Amino acid sequence: TLAFPAAVYLLQDHQLHAAELERTFIAIKPDGVQRGLIAEIVSRFERKGFKLVAIKIVVPSKEFAQKHYHDLKERPFFNGLCDFLSSGPVVAMVWEGEGVIKYGRKLIGATDPQKSEPGTIRGDLAVAVGRNIIHGSDGPETAKDEIALWFRPIELVSYTSNAEKWIYE
Ligand code: ADP
Repeated sequence: TLAFPAAVYLLQDHQLHAAELERTFIAIKPDGVQRGLIAEIVSRFERKGFKLVAIKIVVPSKEFAQKHYHDLKERPFFNGLCDFLSSGPVVAMVWEGEGVIKYGRKLIGATDPQKSEPGTIRGDLAVAVGRNIIHGSDGPETAKDEIALWFRPIELVSYTSNAEKWIYE
């Protein structure tokens, strides 16, 4: 009875889940990729119970890196940071789950790996602040902006995982 059943289904699916969807942007920076830490990092988010809804590997341009880090443009390390982010492949991801923005930051650890707790990604796997291997959105607004900067809507995949009923009450 519907002219565009698939589109309508997607719209309804999105609306049904709109309230519970929380998504964050996570990137494995060039140092994490070069050090062979992709699987290690993905695994920590996956084992926690978060759901991967987008992933790709890209070499961002310097201009793109400047957009991504625009909030830091007045900081002395801005130029070096943008050079570094655009120096090689980055794994860009969107992770979804209850509390994923805040808890993602906990999994990542403090900005300076010397101050990150053991058990966190930076605490366990990094030493220097300028080589801290991973980026994660720091709040709902930046998550929304960063996801929109790095991904087109069609690259985000909505799906139900069979594990969800064992992860959520
Ligand atoms: P986070 O990545 O933890 O959200 P910030 O947004 O403050 O931290 O900084 C972005 C990135 O800039 C950091 O992850 C780090 O790689 C780099 N950075 C931050 N502070 C410094 C610093 N003092 N010297 C060099 N690089 C820095």
